[in-house]
Amino acid sequence: MTQSLASGAELIATSLKQQGVDIIFGIVGIPVVEIADACQAQGIRFIGFRNEQSAAYAASAYGYLSERPGVCLTVGGPGVVHGLAGLLNAQLNCWPMVMLSGSCDTDQIDMGAFQELDQVEACRSYCKYASRPTSVDKIPFVIEKAIRTSMVGRPGPTYVDLPADFIQYPIEDRSSIQALQLPKVTANVKSQADSQSIQQALHWLGKAKQPLIVIGKGAAYARAEEELNQLINHTQIPFLPTPMGKGVVSDQHPLCVSAARSKALKEADVVLLVGARLNWILHYGQSPKWSTNVRYIHIDIHPEELGNNGATTLPLAGDIRLVLQQLLSYKQQLVSLSSNSYVTGLLEKVKENVAKTQTSGQIGDDKAVLTYQTAFTVIKKILPQQVIYVSEGANTMDIARSFFDVYEPRRRLDAGTGATMGVGMGYAIAAQCYYPNDRVISIVGDSAFGFSAMELETAIRSKIPLLIIVINNNGIYHGLDSKDYDQSRNSNILPSTSLSPETRYDMIAEACGGKGWLVKNRVELADALNKALVLKDDTCVINVMIAPGGRKKLSFGWMNKAQKSKI
Ligand code: ADP
Ligand code: MG
Repeated sequence: MTQSLASGAELIATSLKQQGVDIIFGIVGIPVVEIADACQAQGIRFIGFRNEQSAAYAASAYGYLSERPGVCLTVGGPGVVHGLAGLLNAQLNCWPMVMLSGSCDTDQIDMGAFQELDQVEACRSYCKYASRPTSVDKIPFVIEKAIRTSMVGRPGPTYVDLPADFIQYPIEDRSSIQALQLPKVTANVKSQADSQSIQQALHWLGKAKQPLIVIGKGAAYARAEEELNQLINHTQIPFLPTPMGKGVVSDQHPLCVSAARSKALKEADVVLLVGARLNWILHYGQSPKWSTNVRYIHIDIHPEELGNNGATTLPLAGDIRLVLQQLLSYKQQLVSLSSNSYVTGLLEKVKENVAKTQTSGQIGDDKAVLTYQTAFTVIKKILPQQVIYVSEGANTMDIARSFFDVYEPRRRLDAGTGATMGVGMGYAIAAQCYYPNDRVISIVGDSAFGFSAMELETAIRSKIPLLIIVINNNGIYHGLDSKDYDQSRNSNILPSTSLSPETRYDMIAEACGGKGWLVKNRVELADALNKALVLKDDTCVINVMIAPGGRKKLSFGWMNKAQKSKI
């Protein structure tokens, strides 16, 4: 028997395997079915989604968790456009990701071919690198470059365009596939900060009266947990994690001042900013949220980030772990902050706010209508410590963030820099693939869940057991009760934020082969959660009805605009 011909698809699969890719998130169709098949034949796991948007979100999160690019495979045209959402998400969050998409035959370009789109051009503005190999033998070269570019420097997304005729190209000599491969990219392109700036940083920290360490998701990505724990324990400087910086140093560390966030921002004079940007999440580093005299010592791998938004900044350009190791090598100069009124004031405020949160969770009896606070209190009591949280929504995400402590790094994913709604299912699937032995718990708003609820079928088919808790208030931000909803709907003045009351999200899980519960009070919630936690192999949805909130005015902490002078 003669050996069958290999194809471009096999060359693509071999190149991905060579670059350490072990999982791909995507949706197949012409012309990429052969790529998925060839990847599976090489032992690469393929998770087939229901919409490329979710697949691309999954790839972006997998990149964050694994420190190597998450890979998304799509068809051309509309498939690419759906996937752009994930590229943007990876770009905004600084996560490594590669999108691979099929495109029309090269001899049909500009002829109105099947799903034709200038995809390289479409992806370019969301990517660090976007390219189409110029010939079949260049495929390994472009894949290596896409993987390497996404990982080095500031991580981000890249794109590789794969024409149908390249995918189907017959390769007669299979051994040539191996010969074309490039070495696996490693993450060892890292640099330290200049020694003069390190000395100056030690000086600033030594002189600071009210220092604060802010830990961003860049520190989580850089795996700087050991160094940050050492630094905080040695200097006794209070710290504040950003939403996804939570867990790099445990939320239960005695110097964690998350619960006194506003006070900490307002009072800090010198801030060691580690892998976080002075964007909307940190109020641009400006007054009124921050003191007008605040100074930043900013560690980031991306020099262009340093000094952004006019902040008074001492730039420490380099890899977070390496730069922290530089600082830690001067232990005798890193004086320990003696407990002063600034620190004790913050810790008192923490206690006060924690007590307030606890009280808010106790309101009402066992059969009372649930609120965010009472529902989260029940959930927190029952959940084991070792879980991975996925959270999205507006109030659901905001309130849950302060309710649930995170103890270890990279164990909380949320809507992130883009405030991207609809990421939850993709993230949960990616997280469960990355942490197969731990439980992933999604705590999501009803509106957010609706963006990608069909991915329940993906999870169930792929044997990915998720536990999704939908906090259902019948709307975006807030919703209406049934009576108000019916009246408004009948008179055609339904608020734009309204969703149907008591939508049975739990039944979508049941319809896809999972388990679902609709719960309306503490007792029902506790009962459903206990049952779901035992079902380790099932995907479960607990649909938690809470008070709909009614017609409130919208307001979020981050919306407070900086005071502008009139020039
Ligand atoms: P957060 O949302 O938690 O505030 P951001 O996404 O705004 O965090 O910031 C993360 C920052 O971390 C980015 O500016 C990115 O360049 C930086 N970063 C990522 N990896 C590293 C690394 N290994 N070393 C230094 N900085 C890094
Ligand atoms: Mg809602």
